Amino acid sequence: MDNQRQTIQQQSKRCRLVLFPLPLQGHINPMIQLANILHHKGFNISIIHTKYNLPNLSKYPHFTLHLIPDGLSETEASTTDIPLLLKLLNEKCVKPFLDCLARLLSDDADDPIACIITDAVWYFTQAVADNLKIRRIVLRTSSVGSLLAFAALPLLQDMGYLSWKDSEMDTPVVEFPPMKIKDIPTIKTSNSEGPYQIISNMVEQTKKASGLIFNTFKELEESELDKLQEQFLLPTFAIGPFHKYFSASSSSLWTQDRTSISWLDTQAPRSVIYVSFGSVAEMREEKLIEVAWGLANSAQPFLWVVRPGLVNGSEWLEILPKELLEAISRRGYIVKWAPQQEVLSHPATGCFWTHSGWNSTLESICEGVPMICSPFFGDQMVDSRYVNDIWKVGIKLEKGLERFEIESAIRKLMVGKEGEDMRKNIMCLKEKIDLCLKPCGSSYRSLDNLVDFISSFRPPV
Ligand code: UDP
Repeated sequence: MDNQRQTIQQQSKRCRLVLFPLPLQGHINPMIQLANILHHKGFNISIIHTKYNLPNLSKYPHFTLHLIPDGLSETEASTTDIPLLLKLLNEKCVKPFLDCLARLLSDDADDPIACIITDAVWYFTQAVADNLKIRRIVLRTSSVGSLLAFAALPLLQDMGYLSWKDSEMDTPVVEFPPMKIKDIPTIKTSNSEGPYQIISNMVEQTKKASGLIFNTFKELEESELDKLQEQFLLPTFAIGPFHKYFSASSSSLWTQDRTSISWLDTQAPRSVIYVSFGSVAEMREEKLIEVAWGLANSAQPFLWVVRPGLVNGSEWLEILPKELLEAISRRGYIVKWAPQQEVLSHPATGCFWTHSGWNSTLESICEGVPMICSPFFGDQMVDSRYVNDIWKVGIKLEKGLERFEIESAIRKLMVGKEGEDMRKNIMCLKEKIDLCLKPCGSSYRSLDNLVDFISSFRPPV
């Protein structure tokens, strides 16, 4: 590092950054990881968090935590309609966030605040930042490809792609290869404005920010990053994968069942299918039964995360028929929540059947574990298409959750030639990750650029 850069970075030690995670698991984890990365680079860190979904941050005594009321009623806080929840949060948090940030700014004489870093989905924070004359950097916690797809929604809507019939879902979106109509990142909601207003707010307010951080790396999404630069005219920093800078995140909202690891210890190398559909996906009862039959019929050992609430209204496994539970318990181990990063790095794990959440996708690539993809909504649709068609490191279940397709995909991936090829492809990406984080690697350099960029916001005291 040259002397001038070193001096700037040392001065940045006096700067404080205020981070505001969106309170959903897949957004909290990367924001807390980013907080750790930036703290390691010398910044003081304050976290503003809603009372809703507050993780236990006691493992981070080096952060200052400011809780704000989110104004959600009990019914609102328990909704499973995510777009509606996001809209409510963006309306109800305006005043509490503004008051909290104004207070922090008025007290910052000895500890100047350089900028705020907020999740892209916290779109209201751009107006607050403008109002308080502080810069806002956006963290987008999903892939660049999916942000491009979200940004293209108005165009796709004008072209009639959003009103196609069910029978036309496999039609390619020629303007957006390799996407098919069914991959367009839609989300069902009871919100009268539909999901598009939220997406459009997110895209438009991100474009107004001072900078944009991605939990991705250049070698994975190079052409997407180039396209993004044409549409989003702001400095962009691809510094991921975040979780590789520090060991597993301690921002889990649920207790991670560590018996998963002792069970994996008893299994043969690369023999186990790890199954998890993340923190918000929901399925109908008959689909849970299809998943269970697919796993039982695959004749492979499996570790399955069945999150309470995965089937709306059910406690846990009580909806599975007795003979099915017996069939799966012969080969499988079921938990409510797992230490996912450790599971993926365990030698017994041979494949990850995932909902294609971006953190899960990156965590799998980092460990060289090929995937079976069952996306549920939003960015997962796009990410799973990239896994299947572009990176060729997994198989997307094209028919949804259907036992014969599940069984056949598991066989292809665990014992077939296709699986071998995917394993080679993903190992190649894993090597690229190792390189991008080394000095002079793309993410390493991008992180240095981000530190310089933030350090330039405030004159050194
Ligand atoms: N996760 C976990 N244990 C589990 C399932 C998931 O710790 O049993 C973590 C996983 O490692 C990831 C996050 O929860 O960091 C899920 O984020 P992702 O973007 O994959 O999906 P989302 O939950 O947002 O749909």
